[in-house]
Amino acid sequence: MPRMIERARQILADVFGFESFRHPQDEVVATLIEGRDALVIMPTGGGKSLCYQLPALVREGCGIVVSPLIALMQDQVSALSQLGIRAGCLNSSMTLEALQETEHQLRTGELDLLYVAPERLQQPRTQQLLSQCKLALFAIDEAHCVSQWGHDFRPEYMQLNQLRHLFPGVPRIALTATADARTQQEILDRLELVDARAFICGFDRPNIRYRIGQKNRAREQLLRFIREEHPQDVGVIYCLSRKRVEETAAWLCERGFNALPYHAGLDANLRQHHQHRFLTEEPVIMVATIAFGMGIDKPNVRFVAHLDLPRSIEAYYQETGRAGRDGLPADAWMVYGLQDVIFLRQMLEGSGAEDAQKQVERQKLEAMLGLCEITSCRRQALLEYFGETEHEPCGNCDTCLEPVPVWDGTEAARKALSA
Ligand code: ADP
Ligand code: MG
Repeated sequence: MPRMIERARQILADVFGFESFRHPQDEVVATLIEGRDALVIMPTGGGKSLCYQLPALVREGCGIVVSPLIALMQDQVSALSQLGIRAGCLNSSMTLEALQETEHQLRTGELDLLYVAPERLQQPRTQQLLSQCKLALFAIDEAHCVSQWGHDFRPEYMQLNQLRHLFPGVPRIALTATADARTQQEILDRLELVDARAFICGFDRPNIRYRIGQKNRAREQLLRFIREEHPQDVGVIYCLSRKRVEETAAWLCERGFNALPYHAGLDANLRQHHQHRFLTEEPVIMVATIAFGMGIDKPNVRFVAHLDLPRSIEAYYQETGRAGRDGLPADAWMVYGLQDVIFLRQMLEGSGAEDAQKQVERQKLEAMLGLCEITSCRRQALLEYFGETEHEPCGNCDTCLEPVPVWDGTEAARKALSA
């Protein structure tokens, strides 16, 4: 076993060109090499791919990667091929000829890694093919898609528990960037990862300063914040409604800022155009609904501002996480008010979702509100929500920097009673 881990280290350097593992890649790799199952929760960009690519290369047989992102599969395969890794994919966008070619390569042991769409894995033909091959492992990427409560639910993911029964002894690894404690448990349950080691890590973004305040003429507060702290910077401003997005963008433009609106109601070409401008111009501010941000990687976003309350801590974390990708100081600034809570509750109740789903959404909103109202370290609370319980108060959030005076109720009560 230690020899195999040594070999993984060698491949890391020789094939991928990286000096060292990022925590906890080495431990995840070792877990799979041992033949044990794993659950990996790591933020986007954390380096999840290596967690299954390396053990797939070290272990005998082909590593099967289940991914819902068909559009990205070919890119991944090409990138791996460039490194000299023998990779292929099977999905519905391929020609019959290309499918057959890949199947042949798999059968003859010419593949190190095979990316497969979940629906293809359900097909008896694919299952029969895999049963004839030596398999190194199964990697289930974007594993939160198994969660019925999430926004990315994929029914095909529900059947992935079959892998355990069809291919006993082949280790499985589930990976995702978005999972609160409940979703983590759901992934373990639904995929039947009974004896898996869980790796939950790397959610801390120490360069982001979290600040949450009461809303009181939100736009004026925002304007003051930007003028005083980020007059020439790149930023993103999130609002709950499309109308508010457009009004806020126009309002900022009138005040001399290069602000662009972005929401799902805008024409696709205009959206594309604004996204392009955001990526290429500086300074620039994107004013957006939650429709903006997925897959956007602009490293020097210096602030993310919320003019309204996000619907969950996951959403808040995802959105604020777009700030400071370059590691330099950045602000996550937010104002919220009671009217946001009312608006979100109305949206939720009127959504037509099932009762159980609504119940979950209500709890998520409550948790978000809880984060706004705490007087202890915000980062600690945020990380705890994702299962990281070992953090000390951070010294880089509003509650750490400007502790809220806590009113001593016991003293007042004592005085009242003794009077
Ligand atoms: P994720 O799937 O978690 O979003 P990726 O696996 O795509 O992240 O990795 C993100 C980036 O980090 C990639 O560019 C990858 O090459 C790089 N990376 C991953 N592990 C390491 C490492 N140990 N050393 C240096 N770079 C790494
Ligand atoms: Mg990934």
